[in-house]
Amino acid sequence: MKIFDQSRQHLLILAVLLLLPLISSSKTKKTSDIKHPKNTKTVSQLMQQLKKRVLSKKFHWDLSLFTDEGWSHKSHTVNGLPLIYWTCGDRESTNASLILSTVHGDEVTPVYFGFRLVEYLKARPELCKDKFVVVAPIVNPDGFLRYRNGTRSNYHKVDLNRNFDTPDWHKDALHLWKTKYAKRRRYYPGEKPASEPETKFQMWLIDEFKPVKIMSVHAPLNILDYDGPKTPEALKLSQKYFDSIQHLRETVKKATPELKFFAFGNFPGSLGNYAGKQRGIPTITAELPTTKASLAPYYFGMIEKGTRIFIEQEVKDSPIRASANSD
Ligand SMILES: [Zn+2]
Repeated sequence: MKIFDQSRQHLLILAVLLLLPLISSSKTKKTSDIKHPKNTKTVSQLMQQLKKRVLSKKFHWDLSLFTDEGWSHKSHTVNGLPLIYWTCGDRESTNASLILSTVHGDEVTPVYFGFRLVEYLKARPELCKDKFVVVAPIVNPDGFLRYRNGTRSNYHKVDLNRNFDTPDWHKDALHLWKTKYAKRRRYYPGEKPASEPETKFQMWLIDEFKPVKIMSVHAPLNILDYDGPKTPEALKLSQKYFDSIQHLRETVKKATPELKFFAFGNFPGSLGNYAGKQRGIPTITAELPTTKASLAPYYFGMIEKGTRIFIEQEVKDSPIRASANSD
C-alpha cells in the first residue's frame, strides 16, 4: 500500500514538472500582451497616425491641432499608442477640472473637440489662471484608428464606459450586457472591471490630479447629462458642497441651451457611476448632436461657453481637494 502511494506521488510530481513550463509560458505571454505592448509608439507617431486618418477620411480639419508639443503620457493603449493628456494652470489650485474626450472611438466630433480645446486654452492663458485644467483629448485612440470608421470599443473590444470599477460591476455588468444589450459587442463591459489600459488611465487621472469636477465629451445623443450625489447625506457631504455642485450643473446647463438636458442614469462600470455616484464628483457628459466631422468646428462653438463656465466655476468645500491638500 505504502509503495503504491509513493509511486503515485512520484507520478504526480513528474506530471507537474512536465506541465509547469507550459502553464508558466502561456501565463507570461498573456500578461505581457495586456500590460506591456511590445511596440509602443511615440506621441509624434500618434500625431502622424491621427493626421493621416483625418486626411484620408477628408475631415477637412486644421491639421495643426495635432501638434507633437506639450503632451504628457503615463501609459499606452493595448496597441501601444500613448495615452496623452495636457495640463495648464496651478496644480495646487482647489479649482481643478478634468475634461475627457473620445472615450468611444467611432464618435468623431469629440476628437476635434478635445484637440481644439487644448489649442483654445493655450491661446487664452487667463482661463487657466488660479485654476488647474487637465484635458485628455483622445482616451481611445485605438478605437478611433481601427478599421474604416473606428470602433466604439477599445482594441480588446471592450466598451470603456462600462469597464470602470464600480460596486455593482460584478453583480450587474455582464448580466445587463447579456440581457438588455443582447450581447452586442459595442457594449461589452470586459471580463472584469478596470481590465483595460484606457480605463486605468482615466482612473489614474482622477487619482493623480484630484479634479473637483469632470466633463466627458461624446456624440451623437444631443444631450447634456449630469451624474453626482443625489443628496448630501449619501456620501456625508456638506450642504455647502452640495449646493455648489448643483449650481455648477445649472450654470453649465444654462450656457449650453442647444443640448437637451437629460439625466440618463448610470450603468455598471460607467464614468458617471464611478466618479459621480461613488465619489461624489460632479460629472457632466456632453453628447454632441452628431458624429459628422464637418460639423465638429460648429459643435465646438456650440459648447464653448458651457465648457468655459465649467472650467471657471468653483466648487466650494470639495471633499476631493480638501483631502488632496492635507496629504
Ligand atoms: Zn460615447
